[in-house]
Amino acid sequence: MSIQKPRGMEDVLPGESWRWQRVEAVFRDLAERYGYREIRTPLVEATELFERGVGGGTDVVEKEMYTFLDPAGRSLTLRPEGTAGAVRAFVEHHLDQEPGPLKLYYVAAPMFRYERPQAGRQRQFYQFGVEVLGAAEAAVDAEVIGLGVRFLRELGVEGVRVELNSIGDESCRPRYREALLDYYRPLRGQLCEDCRRRLERNPLRLLDCKVDRELAAGAPPVRDALCAACAAHYEEVRRLLGALGVEVVENPRLVRGLDYYTRTVFELVSDRLGAQNAVLSGGRYDRLAEQLGGPPTPGIGFAGGMERLLALLPGGAPRGAEEERPDVFVALVEPGRVAEALAAAERLRAAGLRAECELSGRSLRAQMRYASKRRFRLALLVGGEEWARGEATLRDLDGGRQASLPRGRLEEALARLEARRARPRAAPAGELRRLLAAADGERGEGDGDDS
Ligand SMILES: [Zn+2]
Ligand SMILES: [Zn+2]
Repeated sequence: MSIQKPRGMEDVLPGESWRWQRVEAVFRDLAERYGYREIRTPLVEATELFERGVGGGTDVVEKEMYTFLDPAGRSLTLRPEGTAGAVRAFVEHHLDQEPGPLKLYYVAAPMFRYERPQAGRQRQFYQFGVEVLGAAEAAVDAEVIGLGVRFLRELGVEGVRVELNSIGDESCRPRYREALLDYYRPLRGQLCEDCRRRLERNPLRLLDCKVDRELAAGAPPVRDALCAACAAHYEEVRRLLGALGVEVVENPRLVRGLDYYTRTVFELVSDRLGAQNAVLSGGRYDRLAEQLGGPPTPGIGFAGGMERLLALLPGGAPRGAEEERPDVFVALVEPGRVAEALAAAERLRAAGLRAECELSGRSLRAQMRYASKRRFRLALLVGGEEWARGEATLRDLDGGRQASLPRGRLEEALARLEARRARPRAAPAGELRRLLAAADGERGEGDGDDS
């Protein structure tokens, strides 16, 4: 029997990978416009990182991790999420010494959780996300959430709303925990099995239980238990999001499943997904760097699943995106001209064209069938009488028109394309600098200080 992929893990095949690439490109471009730089951390970390960072009592650490001993007997774990590794790297490389706040992103980063596979939930799944380390201000929360909203908007996801909550910090959460325990303890018998187990260890998690929704509706809201500082932070995040024009829905039942969260937690939900189906989610984790042995460093971030996002996009790709068609198929009219065909394809690629050369010794008719199946725009025929005369024959595979021209003229056109490729892209900042210079000129000499 042939070998098959592990359960809960998917192949991304050539017909699909372009969709992933487009989404990744939109995220990468946007994150960099916001000043984020990419971080890549190992897929495998010390198990202790997740036990200490994500929290030993969470579902993720308790029952969903791929943990194994390496040949030297060290306990390693395939990362179940991205934040712990990013903060571990921040601490390990003393990135607090860099000018901050430090803004990090990752995209299409594989994560692993041993869960029952179902639609949109794989054991190996891919996340995009951002982390900001070194700023506690509500403005960071608003900007991070705003980035998520803009990302979905640029992809063409409609009807996005932000669900927002605060789960307090170490000064007010213990009190809230007690309030929750007072509420839930008498109801213990009515709770689902998971919640009975969670009750003493992590009563916050009972609020987002899918089974015990009615009980959660009667629980005391966290807002009432926030200390003055947490309440003020929450209000400021709401105010700033309002100023950015972001629609916010307060959700007092929103808690996140990982222990490191403090204060702000949020989810971006599309009404296309129905209830409880976040496209991306995140929150603040102001104590995490310290918990991992680093300097006290506030942090905030979000992550989202690529699979779920792709499933949500109309056509499975960003708005208006199509798979890029290849440009030129270099067809071989005479087998003896293969060296010239290879060279012609190289020349086309140097000019920036997507070009393929016949490699499998097919008949011309079979070559053309392949070229049209792969949706090439044009064919260049190498060999034959015209080629022998120093001409190139081009065929338009969309319209069927065909003509020969001196190869020198083709070369001139390719040289122009190559030169255009080499020219640097116009920098948008240049436009603003010209504006500045013009305004400075209007104010007269001696006003500017442009040293
Ligand atoms: Zn429950
Ligand atoms: Zn507080």
